[in-house]
Amino acid sequence: MVYRCLGCAETFDIDALHYVCPGCQQVLLIEDLQADRLKDIPGSTWHEIFDYRKMLTEPSLRGIYRYHEFIGPMLPLESIVYLGEGNTPMIQSNKRLQEQVGLTLYFKNDGQNPSASFKDRGMASAFSYLSHMIGTGQLTDVLAICASTGDTSAAAALYAAYLQKDIKSAVLLPHGKVTPQQLSQPLGSGAHVFEIPGVFDDCMKVVEKLSETYHVALLNSKNAWRILGQESYAYEIAQDFDYDLRNVVVVVPIGNAGNITAVMRGFLKFLDAGIIDQLPKIIGVQSEHANPVYRYYREPEPSKRRFEPVSVRPSVAQAAMIGNPVSMPRVIQLVEHYQRRTGEPKVFFVEVTEQEIMDWELLANRNGHIACTHGGECLAGLVQAIKLGHVMADECAVLDSTAHALKFAGFQDYYFGDHFPPEYHVKPKAALKNAPALISPKGVDRLPEAGYPLEDEDLKRFVDCVAIDIASALSLKKR
Ligand SMILES: *Cc1c(COP(=O)(O)O)cnc(C)c1O
Ligand SMILES: [Zn+2]
Repeated sequence: MVYRCLGCAETFDIDALHYVCPGCQQVLLIEDLQADRLKDIPGSTWHEIFDYRKMLTEPSLRGIYRYHEFIGPMLPLESIVYLGEGNTPMIQSNKRLQEQVGLTLYFKNDGQNPSASFKDRGMASAFSYLSHMIGTGQLTDVLAICASTGDTSAAAALYAAYLQKDIKSAVLLPHGKVTPQQLSQPLGSGAHVFEIPGVFDDCMKVVEKLSETYHVALLNSKNAWRILGQESYAYEIAQDFDYDLRNVVVVVPIGNAGNITAVMRGFLKFLDAGIIDQLPKIIGVQSEHANPVYRYYREPEPSKRRFEPVSVRPSVAQAAMIGNPVSMPRVIQLVEHYQRRTGEPKVFFVEVTEQEIMDWELLANRNGHIACTHGGECLAGLVQAIKLGHVMADECAVLDSTAHALKFAGFQDYYFGDHFPPEYHVKPKAALKNAPALISPKGVDRLPEAGYPLEDEDLKRFVDCVAIDIASALSLKKR
């Protein structure tokens, strides 16, 4: 395997850490120069291999390395770090939600990864590689460092904590721009946490400076090992659909664009190896408050497209609040490659409003999903893609619920309490609001308190009164 530069196409040995091309500074992807050998095994045999591995208990093959030959064939099993990432469930929406959207619909719950976002997939790959390099004596005393909108740092700190003392971690976060839950994660894992004024793009610049100047291991998705592990998301979807991706539409939110890069690349690699015979449609979604990729593709004429970073505005899809995505050159190349292989437009980009993101997230939650704001963004994006005619009623959508709803509970609080800061432009819909009702029973002399339980008559009266209040609030009928 080698690093391949996306600018000058030069290759570099993987026994050193590279994040950009030493020659032209362009981003890299990791390539298997012997990928052709994967075609020697018939597609149907690969299906059996993956289906069989799904039943194994060998820890190193239980997560993303079920697809070992496609993710890091040169890594010995003992270097593989498994913390429970990957193999996330694909949940079909109930009839009600599917009818409302007008399509067969699944959420793939990547919020059910160990640090509660999809970032664990790429981290498992990057840290397995580091662990291999440490094991063979090629690296010692690694400081893993990353900039983050919250989830990257949570994931990096988790894997680094598992691999201490060989690896320590430091994370850079934009001050006030990650949720309390996300901040608690690297703190809990024992990382050095630095809060920086500005937004993610500013943190990224500092981390790039640090990785150019000092001995650190950069764990952002600029690190091509992250992309490699993230490809497992596409492989799992292929397997979930029994390798038949006709009429399948995969919807992903875009921030730094590592995820959509990996998803396109994963499907292309499975197509090349003969494991699938169709590429699914891909819909990339951005909020109108952080939409550089959407803007680039808004120009229909490829030769006229020009990439311009945008200055981001506050977004509830906070993990995707990125104005200058590091993986943009990867996206541009892969979209071209994807369209070439399909012969027709199969990758689309849409933008949605903050209001739509919140409304659709809450509606998904109301129908039994754990989708976070980014899952809501996917659902809003799908609805938009249907409106624009990119997706038809006979297709079947898989929405990437990239993190767990609990990480972004604060936005739900804003919504329910109707106190969204004005720059978000979100007004709650009455039908989606909710609030706890405090019961203060009348006619009760004493109320229970922690350490001072009620007894006998007091307790009986309290229970009776509270039960009556609740029954009346719910209009319950007597049995
Ligand atoms: C990182 C992240 C994204 C954006 O993914 P990119 O690879 O940066 O495009 C979306 N949702 C969540 C929850 C994330 O953590
Ligand atoms: Zn180069």
